Parts: sequence; C-alpha cells; structure tokens
Amino acid sequence: MPADFIYLDHQATTPLAPESRDAMLPWLSGPESMGFANPHSMHKAGRAAAAVVEVAREQVAALLPRGGRVVFTSGATEAINQAIRSVPRGTIAYSAIEHSAVVNSALATGAECQELAVSSQGLVDPEVGFAEGTGLVAVMQVNNEIGTIQPVERLAERAHAAGALFLCDAVQGAGKLAPPEGPDLIAITAHKLYGPKGIGALWVRDGVRIASLIEGGGQEGGLRSGTLSPALCAGFGAAAALAGARMEQDFQHLSGLAGLARSILSRWAVNGSETARWPGNLSLRLGGLNFPRLLSDCREIAFSAGSACGSGTGAPSRVLSALGLDAGQARNSIRLGFGRYTTREDVEQACHRLEAAAVAQGV
Ligand code: PLP
Repeated sequence: MPADFIYLDHQATTPLAPESRDAMLPWLSGPESMGFANPHSMHKAGRAAAAVVEVAREQVAALLPRGGRVVFTSGATEAINQAIRSVPRGTIAYSAIEHSAVVNSALATGAECQELAVSSQGLVDPEVGFAEGTGLVAVMQVNNEIGTIQPVERLAERAHAAGALFLCDAVQGAGKLAPPEGPDLIAITAHKLYGPKGIGALWVRDGVRIASLIEGGGQEGGLRSGTLSPALCAGFGAAAALAGARMEQDFQHLSGLAGLARSILSRWAVNGSETARWPGNLSLRLGGLNFPRLLSDCREIAFSAGSACGSGTGAPSRVLSALGLDAGQARNSIRLGFGRYTTREDVEQACHRLEAAAVAQGV
C-alpha cells in the first residue's frame, strides 16, 4: 500500500500477518523441496504435509470451544452453506442482520425461514420466540456492518430448548473474542483474522451430524472432499495461534483507536449499541452526508458504506434498515474498521480528513 494510504476496512478483510506468511512459505515451494507434496499422499513428503495440516487444525481448534472438530473449507461462505444444508428439516430462523451467506443459503434450501428482528441497538432479543418446528437457528457473534455482539450463548440455549440446532457465524469475532459457547456449528474464515484468503473452517460439535457439500476423494473424514492446501492451512494455523496469544492486547489496542476516532468524530452518531460492540468496528452516521462524494474526496482512505451499498446495488444496507434507520440515514452512514496494525496516527489522520471532507460538503 502507498505510504499515505490508510486502510480502515478490516471487516472486509485483514492484512496477512507476517507470522502467517512465514508459516506458508515452506509449503509454496517448487521442486527444490518437498513442500508441494499432497497432504493426502502416503509417502514421506505427503505425511510431512499432512502433519502440518494437523498442527494447523489444532491451532484453529484452540480458538473454538472444546468438544468439537474442525473441518477445513474454502472460507466461511462454504462453511455456512454446508452447515445450513446439513439440517434435514424444519424452519430456519436467522437474525435480520445475518450476512448474506446465511440468508441466501437458508433461502436456497427452500425451507420455511423466520427472520428474527433486532432492536434499534442492533441486538437480537435473547428471549425471542422461534416458530414451531424450527430445525436451525443462526445468529452471528459479531455483526460485520455495525460490530454489535449478539447474545449467542442464551440464544443457543433457547434454540436447544426448542429442539433446534444452533449455527453461529463467528467470522468477525473469531480470534478476537472468546469463542461463543453453546453453538453446535461455528463458521470462521482465515482472512478476517490476519490469515490467508481461500481457507476457513466449519466447527462441528461432537455428536452433531453434517452432510458433505462437495463429493470426491473423501478428505476431511468424508465431510469435505478435495486436496487441502498445506500452505493455506499453515497460514491459517499460524494466524489463529497469534490471534489467540494477542487477544487481550489487540482488544486494548482497538478500544484505544475506537475512543480516539469517537473523540475526533464526536458529532457523528454511532449505529448500533454503544456497549455490546466490537471496538474494531465503528459504524457512524452524519445527517446529510453524501457518501459517494466522501469516498471520492477521501480516496486515500479505505473505508466503506453498509455492505449492500458496497455491493454496488445502491440499495440501502439491509442491516441498517433492520435497526429502523430510514434509507437516507443508511446512506449517511460509513463504517470504519480498525485492525491490529492500524496506528493512532492513521486514525487521527483519517478521522480529521473525513471530518474536513464532511464540513466541505456543508454537513
Ligand atoms: N460472514 C460474515 C459475518 C462475513 O463478514 C463474511 C465476509 O465478508 C462472511 C461470512 C463470508 O466469509 P468468506 O469471505 O470467508 O466466505
């Protein structure tokens, strides 16, 4: 990235941690070493690659609850699809602010779907009722657009009491917060925790049966066929280990950055709960703001609008609408996403530039 470019879009993706990159390099080699071996081969080089995959599996499992297994996938979208398509019958209930990976894969099953409303704070009511015959409840740990932290433990308890399984999309929380206890299925992805793109995992509680989405050679215990990439696994494992070790330190750092941003952008309103939120995600709105103009005036800052706008449809964000914001308020919103390598200087500079650009718009 150019020196004057400030990256504040860590919900979209995170930079690769140097430790993750270093762990991958030996497994990206050519003929000069055996790092290219297929981890499913029986010979010595294959077994070495398989050993790296298993170390990575342990490292990733350490970020998740005890009593389950990690199935490597291509990312969280695949993990979520697999989880949702594994549930044989019943209504699928999901929160109104789930990622489209959850919403669209639930709709694609053809099952009845129940959308669980959120409060104006962006929180699901932990005592919400589920429709009769619910087979699966899906609620995320941390929302990707507004950063609110959902009462996942209680919701999982209530789903179980209703005879349903519980899926948690923990993409934005994994490696950053303690894992949610209670879910039967958890989807995560490496690229949101400073690991590589192209790998994620579905955690499956012991005793929970899932179906495979991808048939073939029967890898991953028959649950996900296809040759694993030792490099991606090693990178994911190293990123997970680092995230686990730095969890408290990263949290403190991000809390400091969020406080700094709030103090500079003090007249901007926060979207979603002020307290039940992940500090690396700041969704702000300012009445009258013209987002496309702000983006163009602040080209050297990577930040985003709600993800629906970001997808180019021009429609107001589904998440911000679920909070009760009208289309105008949703369009007046921006998301700043801080990360481990974001400095206080980055935040100061970016926020002063954003504020100046807003003032120049006359808002
Ligand atoms: N769930 C949430 C909350 C996300 O933010 C994302 C990524 O944007 C996904 C799921 C999809 O993850 P992946 O990019 O690994 O498919």
